[in-house]
Amino acid sequence: MPELPEVQTIVSDLDKKVVGLTIVGFGSVWKKSVRPSLAKFKKGIIGEKVVALRRVGKHIILDLDSGSSIVIHLKMTGHLLFKSKKLRSSASKFFGERVNGYVRHWFEFDDNSRLEFSDMRKFGWLALVKTSEVEKMKEISQLGIDALSVDLNFKRFDELLGLKPKSKIGILLLDQKWVAGIGNIYRSEILFEAGINPEKLVKDLKIGERKKIYQEMRRILRKAIKLRGTSDSDYRDTDGQKGSFQNFLKVYRKNGELCPNCEGKIKRFKLGQRSVFWCPKCQK
Ligand SMILES: [Zn+2]
Repeated sequence: MPELPEVQTIVSDLDKKVVGLTIVGFGSVWKKSVRPSLAKFKKGIIGEKVVALRRVGKHIILDLDSGSSIVIHLKMTGHLLFKSKKLRSSASKFFGERVNGYVRHWFEFDDNSRLEFSDMRKFGWLALVKTSEVEKMKEISQLGIDALSVDLNFKRFDELLGLKPKSKIGILLLDQKWVAGIGNIYRSEILFEAGINPEKLVKDLKIGERKKIYQEMRRILRKAIKLRGTSDSDYRDTDGQKGSFQNFLKVYRKNGELCPNCEGKIKRFKLGQRSVFWCPKCQK
């Protein structure tokens, strides 16, 4: 599932590609994922210009000049693929990949470009809402502060930790209602770099450890954005290309391999229904 860095990469790319374009068509072969209904969605977006792109948590938001917004969640296997007029007329090997081959919905723009929503598992969704109502949507109003928010300084982060003394830190990091944006890949990397056992209870974290988790969270997420996300499996950007943070992963999906710090073995176990990867020697 794309996490904060992958969604941010998509939003930054689309900001350059679709802002200023007018939507002239929309199609879907999986209308169950289109809200409030395919007909209402189409009626609300056709003829409208895209005026801004933004990210809230893992949601991608296209603001339209009509005062409405398109909210998109990619869920497990969603990809947004932008095809310029030029690209559409020449076959691109990146778009030919299997992971990009499940186009369920598509937008057509006035310059003959297209934005395709490929989604193998079909859990992704699109919704049309008033721009003023975006923050009130059930999925969005429940989100905690963004992991990269300028308002999330260490003091605030520490206060938020203080609200969850009995949580295991490895589970808490995945809780989008607590802090939004971190998923399975980055929680393992953050806790490894911070040297913290994923099962450690928040109340047992010393001040230095809490600081380290905060610093590594910010540093790793920013580095991952710089490297255009992690494509350890099927994440692709809007050109159908892979990110490159997977080349810098230290523990995620590396169970059985040697720890880069101590040469002990990296282990995995289920924590919060997802696998966490860690080094029992380095993480206390
Ligand atoms: Zn180690």
